Amino acid sequence: MARISTPISEIKEHYEVVVIGSGYGGGIAASRMARAGRSVCLLERGREIVPGEYPATLAEATPEFQVHHPDGHLGSRTGLYDLHVNPQQNVMVGCGLGGTSLINANVSLQPEPQVFEDPRWPRKVREHADTLLKDGFARAQEMLRPNPYPDTAPPLPKLQANQKSSERLKDKHSFYRPPINVTFEPLPDNLNHVGVEQQPCNYCGDCVSGCNNKAKNTTLMNYLPDACNHGAEIFCQASVRYLQRDGDGWIVHYQYVGTGREQFDAPTLFVKADIVILSAGTLGSTEILLRSRDQGLALSGELGKHMSGNGDILGFGYNNDDKINGIGFGSHSGKDIGPVGPCITSIIDMRDETDWRKRMVIEEGSIPGAIGGAMVPAMAAASAELGQAAESGPLAKLKYVAREAESALRGPYHGAMNRLQTYLIMSHDDGAGVMALDEHGQLKLEWPGVGEQPNFEIGNARL
Ligand SMILES: Cc1cc2nc3c(=O)[nH]c(=O)nc-3n(C[C@H](O)[C@H](O)[C@H](O)COP(=O)(O)OP(=O)(O)OC[C@H]3O[C@@H](n4cnc5c(N)ncnc54)[C@H](O)[C@@H]3O)c2cc1C
Ligand code: SF4
Repeated sequence: MARISTPISEIKEHYEVVVIGSGYGGGIAASRMARAGRSVCLLERGREIVPGEYPATLAEATPEFQVHHPDGHLGSRTGLYDLHVNPQQNVMVGCGLGGTSLINANVSLQPEPQVFEDPRWPRKVREHADTLLKDGFARAQEMLRPNPYPDTAPPLPKLQANQKSSERLKDKHSFYRPPINVTFEPLPDNLNHVGVEQQPCNYCGDCVSGCNNKAKNTTLMNYLPDACNHGAEIFCQASVRYLQRDGDGWIVHYQYVGTGREQFDAPTLFVKADIVILSAGTLGSTEILLRSRDQGLALSGELGKHMSGNGDILGFGYNNDDKINGIGFGSHSGKDIGPVGPCITSIIDMRDETDWRKRMVIEEGSIPGAIGGAMVPAMAAASAELGQAAESGPLAKLKYVAREAESALRGPYHGAMNRLQTYLIMSHDDGAGVMALDEHGQLKLEWPGVGEQPNFEIGNARL
Protein backbone atom coordinates (compact mmCIF):
# COMPACT_ATOMS: atom_id res chain seq x y z
CA MET A 1 0.00 0.00 0.00
CA ALA A 2 1.42 3.38 -1.02
CA ARG A 3 2.30 5.64 1.89
CA ILE A 4 0.78 9.09 1.95
CA SER A 5 2.82 11.00 4.53
CA THR A 6 5.60 13.39 3.57
CA PRO A 7 8.97 13.67 5.39
CA ILE A 8 8.93 16.50 7.93
CA SER A 9 11.94 18.08 6.19
CA GLU A 10 9.56 19.11 3.38
CA ILE A 11 7.12 21.06 5.55
CA LYS A 12 6.57 24.66 4.38
CA GLU A 13 6.55 27.72 6.59
CA HIS A 14 2.92 28.63 5.97
CA TYR A 15 -0.37 26.96 4.90
CA GLU A 16 -3.87 28.32 4.64
CA VAL A 17 -5.11 25.50 6.85
CA VAL A 18 -3.28 23.40 9.43
CA VAL A 19 -5.26 20.37 10.63
CA ILE A 20 -4.11 18.72 13.87
CA GLY A 21 -4.87 15.00 14.19
CA SER A 22 -5.92 12.42 11.59
CA GLY A 23 -8.90 10.52 13.05
CA TYR A 24 -12.46 11.19 11.92
CA GLY A 25 -12.28 14.89 12.84
CA GLY A 26 -8.90 15.50 11.18
CA GLY A 27 -9.45 13.17 8.22
CA ILE A 28 -12.75 14.80 7.28
CA ALA A 29 -11.41 18.35 7.77
CA ALA A 30 -8.27 17.71 5.67
CA SER A 31 -10.22 16.07 2.85
CA ARG A 32 -12.93 18.76 2.71
CA MET A 33 -10.49 21.68 2.96
CA ALA A 34 -8.20 20.20 0.29
CA ARG A 35 -11.22 19.58 -1.98
CA ALA A 36 -12.19 23.23 -1.45
CA GLY A 37 -8.82 24.22 -2.95
CA ARG A 38 -7.11 25.35 0.26
CA SER A 39 -3.43 24.62 0.91
CA VAL A 40 -3.60 22.07 3.73
CA CYS A 41 -1.01 20.68 6.14
CA LEU A 42 -2.00 17.87 8.51
CA LEU A 43 0.10 17.23 11.63
CA GLU A 44 -0.23 13.81 13.30
CA ARG A 45 1.80 12.77 16.36
CA GLY A 46 1.73 9.01 15.49
CA ARG A 47 3.40 7.01 12.72
CA GLU A 48 1.97 5.89 9.42
CA ILE A 49 1.28 2.20 10.11
CA VAL A 50 -0.33 0.39 7.18
CA PRO A 51 -2.23 -2.95 6.96
CA GLY A 52 0.26 -5.78 7.36
CA GLU A 53 2.16 -3.84 10.04
CA TYR A 54 -0.37 -4.00 12.90
CA PRO A 55 0.63 -6.26 15.81
CA ALA A 56 -0.48 -9.88 15.51
CA THR A 57 1.37 -11.29 18.54
CA LEU A 58 1.92 -10.17 22.14
CA ALA A 59 5.61 -9.55 21.36
CA GLU A 60 4.61 -7.19 18.54
CA ALA A 61 1.83 -5.52 20.54
CA THR A 62 3.86 -4.79 23.71
CA PRO A 63 6.14 -2.07 22.23
CA GLU A 64 3.06 -0.43 20.69
CA PHE A 65 1.67 0.39 24.15
CA GLN A 66 2.31 3.80 25.64
CA VAL A 67 0.92 4.64 29.04
CA HIS A 68 0.19 8.06 30.47
CA HIS A 69 -0.06 7.62 34.24
CA PRO A 70 0.14 9.88 37.29
CA ASP A 71 3.93 9.31 37.61
CA GLY A 72 4.70 10.20 34.00
CA HIS A 73 4.85 8.52 30.60
CA LEU A 74 5.94 4.97 29.74
CA GLY A 75 6.79 3.58 26.29
CA SER A 76 7.29 5.24 22.92
CA ARG A 77 5.47 8.53 22.30
CA THR A 78 4.42 7.09 18.96
CA GLY A 79 3.04 3.77 20.31
CA LEU A 80 -0.25 2.90 18.59
CA TYR A 81 -2.20 2.03 21.74
CA ASP A 82 -2.24 5.04 24.06
CA LEU A 83 -3.62 4.25 27.50
CA HIS A 84 -4.33 7.07 29.93
CA VAL A 85 -4.41 5.74 33.47
CA ASN A 86 -6.19 7.99 35.97
CA PRO A 87 -7.40 7.41 39.52
CA GLN A 88 -11.08 6.99 38.61
CA GLN A 89 -11.41 6.62 34.84
CA ASN A 90 -8.96 5.20 32.29
CA VAL A 91 -9.08 6.15 28.62
CA MET A 92 -7.73 4.37 25.55
CA VAL A 93 -7.01 6.31 22.35
CA GLY A 94 -5.23 5.53 19.09
CA CYS A 95 -1.94 7.15 18.06
CA GLY A 96 -1.13 6.81 14.37
CA LEU A 97 -2.15 8.11 10.97
CA GLY A 98 -5.87 7.36 11.10
CA GLY A 99 -6.20 8.09 14.83
CA THR A 100 -8.55 5.96 16.90
CA SER A 101 -10.29 4.75 13.72
CA LEU A 102 -7.28 2.39 13.41
CA ILE A 103 -8.17 0.57 16.63
CA ASN A 104 -11.88 1.08 17.16
CA ALA A 105 -14.72 -1.39 16.74
CA ASN A 106 -16.04 0.03 13.43
CA VAL A 107 -19.61 0.81 14.53
CA SER A 108 -20.99 3.82 12.69
CA LEU A 109 -24.28 4.40 14.44
CA GLN A 110 -26.03 7.74 14.13
CA PRO A 111 -27.03 9.38 17.40
CA GLU A 112 -30.71 9.55 18.29
CA PRO A 113 -32.16 13.02 17.54
CA GLN A 114 -32.66 13.77 21.25
CA VAL A 115 -28.86 13.72 21.73
CA PHE A 116 -28.60 17.01 19.84
CA GLU A 117 -31.49 18.56 21.76
CA ASP A 118 -29.27 18.78 24.83
CA PRO A 119 -28.71 22.50 25.57
CA ARG A 120 -25.05 21.80 26.37
CA TRP A 121 -24.35 21.59 22.61
CA PRO A 122 -23.40 24.91 21.05
CA ARG A 123 -26.49 26.66 19.67
CA LYS A 124 -25.13 26.48 16.10
CA VAL A 125 -24.92 22.69 16.30
CA ARG A 126 -28.46 22.37 17.67
CA GLU A 127 -29.87 24.74 15.08
CA HIS A 128 -28.44 22.69 12.25
CA ALA A 129 -29.39 19.25 13.56
CA ASP A 130 -31.89 18.76 10.72
CA THR A 131 -29.89 20.48 7.99
CA LEU A 132 -26.09 20.66 7.96
CA LEU A 133 -25.65 17.83 10.45
CA LYS A 134 -27.85 15.57 8.35
CA ASP A 135 -25.84 16.46 5.24
CA GLY A 136 -22.68 15.73 7.19
CA PHE A 137 -23.89 12.26 8.19
CA ALA A 138 -24.79 11.50 4.58
CA ARG A 139 -21.35 12.61 3.36
CA ALA A 140 -19.58 10.59 6.07
CA GLN A 141 -21.59 7.53 5.03
CA GLU A 142 -20.53 7.99 1.41
CA MET A 143 -16.89 8.00 2.47
CA LEU A 144 -16.80 5.45 5.33
CA ARG A 145 -19.27 3.04 3.67
CA PRO A 146 -20.82 1.57 6.84
CA ASN A 147 -22.89 -1.60 6.34
CA PRO A 148 -24.23 -4.35 8.61
CA TYR A 149 -22.59 -7.77 8.89
CA PRO A 150 -24.14 -9.47 5.83
CA ASP A 151 -26.75 -12.24 6.08
CA THR A 152 -24.76 -14.11 3.42
CA ALA A 153 -21.55 -14.10 5.53
CA PRO A 154 -20.75 -17.07 7.81
CA PRO A 155 -22.84 -17.39 11.00
CA LEU A 156 -20.98 -16.14 14.06
CA PRO A 157 -21.38 -17.80 17.47
CA LYS A 158 -20.81 -14.49 19.32
CA LEU A 159 -23.59 -12.82 17.32
CA GLN A 160 -25.96 -15.75 17.89
CA ALA A 161 -25.16 -15.70 21.62
CA ASN A 162 -25.89 -11.97 21.82
CA GLN A 163 -29.24 -12.59 20.14
CA LYS A 164 -29.94 -15.22 22.79
CA SER A 165 -29.02 -12.67 25.47
CA SER A 166 -31.38 -10.14 23.90
CA GLU A 167 -34.21 -12.71 24.01
CA ARG A 168 -33.69 -13.15 27.76
CA LEU A 169 -33.50 -9.44 28.47
CA LYS A 170 -36.71 -8.12 30.02
CA ASP A 171 -36.23 -4.41 29.23
CA LYS A 172 -37.81 -3.12 26.01
CA HIS A 173 -35.26 -3.12 23.19
CA SER A 174 -34.60 -3.97 19.56
CA PHE A 175 -31.92 -6.35 18.30
CA TYR A 176 -30.19 -5.89 14.96
CA ARG A 177 -26.89 -5.76 13.11
CA PRO A 178 -25.53 -2.19 13.25
CA PRO A 179 -23.72 -0.48 10.36
CA ILE A 180 -19.96 -1.08 10.62
CA ASN A 181 -17.12 0.47 8.60
CA VAL A 182 -15.92 -2.79 7.09
CA THR A 183 -15.59 -3.96 3.48
CA PHE A 184 -17.27 -7.33 2.93
CA GLU A 185 -17.59 -7.68 -0.84
CA PRO A 186 -14.70 -7.76 -3.35
CA LEU A 187 -14.26 -4.35 -5.02
CA PRO A 188 -13.71 -3.79 -8.75
CA ASP A 189 -9.92 -4.18 -9.28
CA ASN A 190 -9.73 -4.31 -5.46
CA LEU A 191 -9.80 -0.51 -5.39
CA ASN A 192 -12.18 1.51 -3.25
CA HIS A 193 -13.93 4.79 -4.14
CA VAL A 194 -10.78 6.86 -3.50
CA GLY A 195 -8.43 4.45 -5.32
CA VAL A 196 -7.00 2.62 -2.30
CA GLU A 197 -6.64 -1.18 -2.35
CA GLN A 198 -9.09 -2.92 -0.04
CA GLN A 199 -9.93 -6.59 0.47
CA PRO A 200 -13.06 -8.29 1.82
CA CYS A 201 -13.10 -9.04 5.55
CA ASN A 202 -11.70 -12.46 6.50
CA TYR A 203 -13.68 -12.51 9.81
CA CYS A 204 -10.47 -12.63 11.89
CA GLY A 205 -11.83 -10.54 14.80
CA ASP A 206 -8.65 -8.48 15.21
CA CYS A 207 -10.22 -5.08 14.41
CA VAL A 208 -9.18 -3.33 17.64
CA SER A 209 -5.48 -4.18 17.35
CA GLY A 210 -5.50 -2.95 13.71
CA CYS A 211 -6.79 -4.64 10.57
CA ASN A 212 -4.01 -6.36 8.62
CA ASN A 213 -6.38 -7.45 5.87
CA LYS A 214 -7.21 -4.01 4.34
CA ALA A 215 -10.89 -4.59 5.11
CA LYS A 216 -11.46 -2.02 7.83
CA ASN A 217 -12.57 1.35 6.46
CA THR A 218 -10.34 3.51 8.67
CA THR A 219 -9.64 7.13 7.71
CA LEU A 220 -6.28 5.86 6.40
CA MET A 221 -8.24 4.05 3.65
CA ASN A 222 -10.55 6.91 2.61
CA TYR A 223 -10.48 10.49 3.97
CA LEU A 224 -6.70 10.77 4.34
CA PRO A 225 -5.71 9.47 0.86
CA ASP A 226 -8.55 11.59 -0.53
CA ALA A 227 -7.02 14.65 1.17
CA CYS A 228 -3.65 13.68 -0.25
CA ASN A 229 -5.14 13.21 -3.75
CA HIS A 230 -6.40 16.79 -3.48
CA GLY A 231 -3.03 18.22 -2.51
CA ALA A 232 -2.99 18.08 1.30
CA GLU A 233 0.46 17.46 2.81
CA ILE A 234 0.49 15.01 5.69
CA PHE A 235 3.26 14.94 8.29
CA CYS A 236 3.60 12.21 10.93
CA GLN A 237 5.44 12.17 14.27
CA ALA A 238 4.65 15.87 14.58
CA SER A 239 3.23 16.35 18.07
CA VAL A 240 1.65 19.75 18.56
CA ARG A 241 2.54 21.43 21.85
CA TYR A 242 0.58 24.68 21.73
CA LEU A 243 -0.98 27.38 19.57
CA GLN A 244 -0.10 31.03 19.50
CA ARG A 245 -1.88 34.00 17.90
CA ASP A 246 -0.01 35.66 15.00
CA GLY A 247 -1.99 38.70 13.86
CA ASP A 248 -5.12 37.24 12.26
CA GLY A 249 -3.43 33.86 11.91
CA TRP A 250 -1.74 31.26 14.06
CA ILE A 251 1.62 29.79 14.93
CA VAL A 252 1.43 26.06 15.60
CA HIS A 253 4.31 24.85 17.80
CA TYR A 254 5.18 21.17 17.50
CA GLN A 255 7.88 18.65 18.29
CA TYR A 256 9.15 15.89 16.03
CA VAL A 257 8.65 12.79 18.22
CA GLY A 258 9.70 9.16 18.23
CA THR A 259 13.36 10.07 17.77
CA GLY A 260 14.35 10.55 21.43
CA ARG A 261 14.85 14.26 20.73
CA GLU A 262 11.71 15.21 22.64
CA GLN A 263 13.11 13.69 25.84
CA PHE A 264 15.70 16.44 26.06
CA ASP A 265 13.22 19.26 26.22
CA ALA A 266 14.16 20.36 22.73
CA PRO A 267 12.85 23.68 21.47
CA THR A 268 9.67 23.40 19.43
CA LEU A 269 9.46 23.72 15.66
CA PHE A 270 6.62 25.75 14.16
CA VAL A 271 4.36 26.21 11.16
CA LYS A 272 2.09 29.18 10.41
CA ALA A 273 -1.56 29.02 9.36
CA ASP A 274 -4.52 31.26 8.56
CA ILE A 275 -6.90 28.66 9.98
CA VAL A 276 -6.17 25.90 12.50
CA ILE A 277 -8.53 22.93 12.82
CA LEU A 278 -7.93 21.29 16.15
CA SER A 279 -9.04 17.67 15.81
CA ALA A 280 -6.64 15.83 18.10
CA GLY A 281 -9.45 13.98 19.89
CA THR A 282 -11.16 14.81 23.19
CA LEU A 283 -7.94 14.37 25.18
CA GLY A 284 -5.44 15.63 22.60
CA SER A 285 -7.32 18.80 21.65
CA THR A 286 -7.96 19.72 25.29
CA GLU A 287 -4.32 19.11 26.22
CA ILE A 288 -3.15 21.42 23.41
CA LEU A 289 -5.62 24.12 24.44
CA LEU A 290 -4.67 23.88 28.13
CA ARG A 291 -1.00 24.29 27.18
CA SER A 292 -1.89 27.16 24.85
CA ARG A 293 -3.72 28.87 27.70
CA ASP A 294 -0.62 28.48 29.90
CA GLN A 295 1.33 30.17 27.09
CA GLY A 296 -1.04 33.15 27.15
CA LEU A 297 -3.88 32.30 24.74
CA ALA A 298 -7.18 33.69 26.06
CA LEU A 299 -9.56 30.75 26.59
CA SER A 300 -12.68 30.00 28.58
CA GLY A 301 -12.47 28.98 32.23
CA GLU A 302 -14.70 26.03 31.31
CA LEU A 303 -11.88 24.48 29.24
CA GLY A 304 -11.36 20.85 30.29
CA LYS A 305 -14.64 20.55 32.20
CA HIS A 306 -17.76 18.54 31.33
CA MET A 307 -16.02 15.56 29.76
CA SER A 308 -18.12 12.49 28.99
CA GLY A 309 -16.71 8.97 28.81
CA ASN A 310 -19.56 7.96 26.52
CA GLY A 311 -20.97 5.93 29.42
CA ASP A 312 -18.78 3.02 28.29
CA ILE A 313 -18.86 -0.29 30.18
CA LEU A 314 -16.80 -3.37 29.32
CA GLY A 315 -18.15 -6.66 30.66
CA PHE A 316 -17.51 -10.38 30.18
CA GLY A 317 -19.55 -13.54 30.29
CA TYR A 318 -16.81 -16.13 30.92
CA ASN A 319 -16.83 -19.93 30.74
CA ASN A 320 -20.32 -20.13 29.18
CA ASP A 321 -21.96 -23.37 28.11
CA ASP A 322 -22.27 -21.97 24.57
CA LYS A 323 -19.19 -21.65 22.42
CA ILE A 324 -18.54 -18.01 21.50
CA ASN A 325 -15.34 -18.09 19.44
CA GLY A 326 -14.59 -14.49 20.34
CA ILE A 327 -10.78 -14.47 20.24
CA GLY A 328 -9.24 -13.08 17.04
CA PHE A 329 -6.86 -15.03 14.80
CA GLY A 330 -3.75 -12.98 15.63
CA SER A 331 -0.85 -14.73 13.90
CA HIS A 332 -2.89 -17.92 13.23
CA SER A 333 -4.28 -18.67 9.79
CA GLY A 334 -7.75 -19.08 11.28
CA LYS A 335 -8.36 -22.46 9.59
CA ASP A 336 -8.77 -24.35 12.87
CA ILE A 337 -10.48 -21.47 14.64
CA GLY A 338 -13.51 -20.72 12.47
CA PRO A 339 -14.95 -17.27 11.78
CA VAL A 340 -14.83 -14.84 14.71
CA GLY A 341 -16.26 -11.87 12.80
CA PRO A 342 -15.58 -8.14 13.04
CA CYS A 343 -15.28 -6.84 16.59
CA ILE A 344 -18.94 -5.76 16.87
CA THR A 345 -21.69 -7.29 14.72
CA SER A 346 -24.86 -6.99 16.77
CA ILE A 347 -26.60 -4.56 19.03
CA ILE A 348 -29.24 -4.62 21.73
CA ASP A 349 -30.64 -1.13 21.33
CA MET A 350 -32.37 0.48 24.31
CA ARG A 351 -32.00 4.09 23.22
CA ASP A 352 -35.69 4.91 23.19
CA GLU A 353 -36.15 4.59 26.97
CA THR A 354 -37.75 7.75 28.41
CA ASP A 355 -35.26 7.98 31.29
CA TRP A 356 -31.88 8.98 29.76
CA ARG A 357 -30.02 6.97 32.41
CA LYS A 358 -31.59 3.81 31.00
CA ARG A 359 -30.77 4.63 27.38
CA MET A 360 -27.94 2.44 26.16
CA VAL A 361 -26.74 -0.09 23.62
CA ILE A 362 -25.24 -3.49 24.46
CA GLU A 363 -22.95 -4.93 21.79
CA GLU A 364 -20.90 -8.10 21.65
CA GLY A 365 -17.17 -7.85 20.94
CA SER A 366 -14.06 -9.80 20.06
CA ILE A 367 -10.64 -9.82 21.73
CA PRO A 368 -7.66 -9.41 19.37
CA GLY A 369 -5.61 -12.59 18.94
CA ALA A 370 -2.42 -10.72 19.90
CA ILE A 371 -3.56 -10.62 23.54
CA GLY A 372 -5.66 -13.83 23.55
CA GLY A 373 -2.93 -15.91 25.28
CA ALA A 374 -2.40 -13.26 27.98
CA MET A 375 -6.15 -13.22 28.64
CA VAL A 376 -6.18 -16.92 29.72
CA PRO A 377 -4.66 -16.40 33.20
CA ALA A 378 -6.16 -12.89 33.48
CA MET A 379 -9.73 -14.12 32.97
CA ALA A 380 -9.23 -17.11 35.28
CA ALA A 381 -7.97 -14.79 38.04
CA ALA A 382 -10.67 -12.16 37.46
CA SER A 383 -13.41 -14.76 37.45
CA ALA A 384 -12.15 -16.32 40.72
CA GLU A 385 -12.02 -12.85 42.31
CA LEU A 386 -15.11 -11.14 40.87
CA GLY A 387 -17.18 -13.67 38.94
CA GLN A 388 -20.70 -14.74 39.80
CA ALA A 389 -21.32 -18.37 38.79
CA ALA A 390 -24.55 -18.99 36.88
CA GLU A 391 -24.83 -22.51 38.33
CA SER A 392 -23.72 -23.89 41.67
CA GLY A 393 -23.09 -27.40 43.02
CA PRO A 394 -20.24 -29.87 42.59
CA LEU A 395 -21.12 -30.90 38.99
CA ALA A 396 -21.24 -27.32 37.76
CA LYS A 397 -17.97 -26.56 39.52
CA LEU A 398 -16.34 -29.58 37.86
CA LYS A 399 -17.55 -28.40 34.45
CA TYR A 400 -16.14 -24.90 34.98
CA VAL A 401 -12.79 -26.16 36.27
CA ALA A 402 -12.42 -28.67 33.41
CA ARG A 403 -13.02 -25.96 30.78
CA GLU A 404 -10.62 -23.58 32.50
CA ALA A 405 -7.95 -26.30 32.57
CA GLU A 406 -8.51 -26.88 28.84
CA SER A 407 -7.80 -23.18 28.10
CA ALA A 408 -4.70 -23.26 30.30
CA LEU A 409 -3.37 -26.35 28.49
CA ARG A 410 -4.50 -25.74 24.90
CA GLY A 411 -4.76 -21.93 24.72
CA PRO A 412 -7.47 -19.31 24.22
CA TYR A 413 -9.25 -21.05 21.32
CA HIS A 414 -10.33 -23.87 23.65
CA GLY A 415 -12.24 -24.40 26.87
CA ALA A 416 -13.41 -21.51 29.05
CA MET A 417 -11.79 -18.83 26.88
CA ASN A 418 -13.51 -20.11 23.75
CA ARG A 419 -16.72 -19.52 25.69
CA LEU A 420 -15.96 -15.92 26.59
CA GLN A 421 -18.53 -13.35 25.52
CA THR A 422 -17.34 -9.75 25.52
CA TYR A 423 -19.98 -7.06 26.10
CA LEU A 424 -19.60 -3.39 25.29
CA ILE A 425 -22.12 -0.88 26.60
CA MET A 426 -22.40 2.73 25.50
CA SER A 427 -24.73 4.86 27.59
CA HIS A 428 -25.13 8.38 28.95
CA ASP A 429 -23.01 9.45 31.90
CA ASP A 430 -23.30 12.82 33.65
CA GLY A 431 -20.40 14.32 31.68
CA ALA A 432 -18.70 15.63 34.80
CA GLY A 433 -15.11 14.58 34.05
CA VAL A 434 -12.49 17.32 34.43
CA MET A 435 -9.28 17.40 32.38
CA ALA A 436 -6.31 19.44 33.60
CA LEU A 437 -2.50 19.43 33.24
CA ASP A 438 -0.50 17.68 35.99
CA GLU A 439 2.95 18.58 37.31
CA HIS A 440 4.56 16.75 34.35
CA GLY A 441 2.57 18.96 31.96
CA GLN A 442 0.51 15.99 30.79
CA LEU A 443 -3.23 15.57 30.83
CA LYS A 444 -4.93 14.09 33.90
CA LEU A 445 -8.60 13.26 34.27
CA GLU A 446 -10.48 13.63 37.53
CA TRP A 447 -13.96 12.27 38.02
CA PRO A 448 -14.74 11.32 41.62
CA GLY A 449 -17.64 8.87 41.90
CA VAL A 450 -17.71 8.20 38.15
CA GLY A 451 -18.56 4.50 38.56
CA GLU A 452 -21.42 5.12 40.97
CA GLN A 453 -23.67 6.84 38.43
CA PRO A 454 -27.07 5.25 37.71
CA ASN A 455 -26.29 4.44 34.06
CA PHE A 456 -23.40 2.21 35.19
CA GLU A 457 -25.51 0.51 37.85
CA ILE A 458 -28.31 -0.11 35.35
CA GLY A 459 -25.83 -1.34 32.74
CA ASN A 460 -24.19 -3.71 35.21
CA ALA A 461 -27.56 -5.07 36.30
CA ARG A 462 -28.56 -5.68 32.67
CA LEU A 463 -25.29 -7.49 31.97
C1 LIG B 1 -11.12 0.27 21.36
C2 LIG B 1 -12.08 1.36 20.90
C3 LIG B 1 -13.23 0.99 20.23
C4 LIG B 1 -14.13 1.98 19.78
N1 LIG B 1 -15.21 1.60 19.05
C5 LIG B 1 -16.05 2.53 18.55
C6 LIG B 1 -17.12 2.16 17.71
O1 LIG B 1 -17.30 0.99 17.37
N2 LIG B 1 -17.95 3.15 17.24
C7 LIG B 1 -17.75 4.47 17.58
O2 LIG B 1 -18.53 5.33 17.14
N3 LIG B 1 -16.73 4.84 18.37
C8 LIG B 1 -15.86 3.90 18.83
N4 LIG B 1 -14.78 4.29 19.58
C9 LIG B 1 -14.57 5.73 19.80
C10 LIG B 1 -14.15 6.41 18.49
O3 LIG B 1 -13.19 5.64 17.82
C11 LIG B 1 -13.60 7.81 18.79
O4 LIG B 1 -14.62 8.55 19.42
C12 LIG B 1 -13.18 8.54 17.53
O5 LIG B 1 -12.20 7.80 16.84
C13 LIG B 1 -12.66 9.93 17.88
O6 LIG B 1 -12.29 10.59 16.69
P1 LIG B 1 -11.46 11.92 16.76
O7 LIG B 1 -11.11 12.29 15.36
O8 LIG B 1 -12.17 12.90 17.60
O9 LIG B 1 -10.14 11.54 17.58
P2 LIG B 1 -9.04 10.46 17.25
O10 LIG B 1 -9.52 9.47 16.27
O11 LIG B 1 -8.53 9.95 18.55
O12 LIG B 1 -7.94 11.29 16.50
C14 LIG B 1 -7.12 12.22 17.14
C15 LIG B 1 -5.77 12.18 16.47
O13 LIG B 1 -5.00 13.27 16.94
C16 LIG B 1 -3.70 12.82 17.21
N5 LIG B 1 -3.13 13.71 18.22
C17 LIG B 1 -3.43 13.76 19.55
N6 LIG B 1 -2.69 14.71 20.14
C18 LIG B 1 -1.93 15.27 19.18
C19 LIG B 1 -0.95 16.29 19.18
N7 LIG B 1 -0.61 16.92 20.30
N8 LIG B 1 -0.34 16.60 18.01
C20 LIG B 1 -0.66 15.96 16.85
N9 LIG B 1 -1.57 14.96 16.81
C21 LIG B 1 -2.20 14.64 17.95
C22 LIG B 1 -3.87 11.40 17.68
O14 LIG B 1 -2.69 10.64 17.56
C23 LIG B 1 -4.98 10.92 16.75
O15 LIG B 1 -4.48 10.42 15.55
C24 LIG B 1 -13.88 3.34 20.05
C25 LIG B 1 -12.72 3.70 20.75
C26 LIG B 1 -11.82 2.73 21.16
C27 LIG B 1 -10.55 3.15 21.90
S1 SF4 C 1 -12.57 -8.93 11.21
FE1 SF4 C 1 -10.42 -8.93 10.57
S2 SF4 C 1 -10.46 -8.58 8.38
FE2 SF4 C 1 -12.49 -8.02 9.16
S3 SF4 C 1 -12.32 -5.82 9.55
FE3 SF4 C 1 -11.83 -6.82 11.47
S4 SF4 C 1 -9.59 -7.02 11.45
FE4 SF4 C 1 -10.23 -6.57 9.37
